[in-house]
Order: sequence, then C-alpha cells, then structure tokens
Amino acid sequence: MARTPLLMGNWKMYKTVAEARSFAESLGQQSAALVDGVEYAICAPYTSLHVLRVMLPANVKVGAQNVYPQKEGAYTGEIAPGMLAEFGTRFVLAGHSERRMLFNESDQMVNHKVRAIAEAGMIPVLCVGENSSQKQDGITKEVVTGQVQQGLDGLSQEQVAQAVIAYEPVWAIGSGKTATPEDAQYVASEIRALVADLFGAEAAASVRILYGGSVKPDNIASFVREADIDGALVGGASLEPSSFVEMAQAL
Ligand code: PGA
Repeated sequence: MARTPLLMGNWKMYKTVAEARSFAESLGQQSAALVDGVEYAICAPYTSLHVLRVMLPANVKVGAQNVYPQKEGAYTGEIAPGMLAEFGTRFVLAGHSERRMLFNESDQMVNHKVRAIAEAGMIPVLCVGENSSQKQDGITKEVVTGQVQQGLDGLSQEQVAQAVIAYEPVWAIGSGKTATPEDAQYVASEIRALVADLFGAEAAASVRILYGGSVKPDNIASFVREADIDGALVGGASLEPSSFVEMAQAL
C-alpha cells in the first residue's frame, strides 16, 4: 500500500500567537508551492494551535506536542486528548527525547499517551531514538526497537496502521549532525520489521516512519528517498515559512 509522505514541523517552545499567525499568513501566500500528494503538519505550542487551525492552508494539519493521558480530572496544568481532538488536532507527539530527558517520561507513560491519543481519534507520533553513548555501544537497534515495542503496546492493528513513528537519534537533534541516510534507513527497516512481527504485514506496510534530527532543506531529499522513510519531523528548520516550503518541494 502506498504511504502518503509526511512533512511535520515541531516548533518546540517557540512562537507567540502573533508569530504563529504571521507564519500561517506567509505559508498561505506560498501554498501553491506545497506539492500535492504530501501531508503537511505543524506541531505547535497549545497556545498557537487555534490560530494555526483557522489560518493554515487546508492541506497543512495541526499537531500538538504533548497530552496528558486521562479523559479529564484534577490534573492542574495538563491538557486532555479530547480537548485537542475537539477542535481538529490531527497529530500528537509522544515520547520526544526532550520530554523523555527533561520531564522523565518513561516508556510506560509514553505508551499511555500513545493509547490515549489513538483512542481520542487522533494520530500518535511515537518518537524514538538512541543517545550518543548508546550509539557508541552499538545498541541502537535494541534501544529503538524496545522503545517502539513498549510505545505501541496495546494498540490495535488498525491503530498502528494509522500511526506515525519518528526515528530521531538524540545526538542529531538540534546539533547540526544527522544520521547517514543509510543508517536511518537501516533503523527504519528494523522498525518496520518489528511492526510486522507484532501487528502484522498490513500494519507494517501502512505505518509511516519519519526521520528527524537536523533535517534541513538541503538534506531532506537524501532521507525521504530511502525505501522505509516516509517523511521528516523537523524542528529548527520548520520555523521559517520559506524553509518549510523548500523542504516540501524537496520531498
Ligand atoms: P531539529 O529537531 O530538526 O531542530 O534537529 C528535531 C526534533 O526535535 O524533532
């Protein structure tokens, strides 16, 4: 089954509502440059989701960067899946390495989030990746497949088929260093093989796998041309409308 390529921005903790609005306006003016047959998304801070939802071109979807895996309740400061789904959030990141490291998110918590996102009818974007010492120790495959197995646990085959997995080596995030396309493809193929073992061939053929970590307009094509890489999760280079468009055109 052909998988629709996906270009996803992760704005992290950047942009006020006014800045998000001006990004959306600028992207709207260049929307003819967003090639057909590709799905686009911006994962923004909660405060900017509404303005993006209203103002982004119709083919650019809105994503959130986090969620709390409870329906509602006394969880001061948190946002529930249904609140995000209500106004058309399509994607939600889970397990980004910054959340694993800075906010101590365990694989179990990541799994609760992934399940809650899927149950609310949105698409979980499960982020996985090894850090530099794990890479040096030669255990990238074990680390990544372990995170994928735990992250997807309990999902149905259909939910996995809809899901997105982002392979982001921790050492490549925001560092200007990237994995080689060959290494990224190897890890992506191992992820897909694991999904086939756990959830069947159909889910494995449908699940989209992204590469992330210092993706830029001038290197994105080298990743997405690999057989098992279906797009990119982009931090820094997604903040400028012009580079977002350049990446769209390089897909
Ligand atoms: P980067 O971030 O593109 O700035 O390296 C990627 C990410 O954290 O998703």
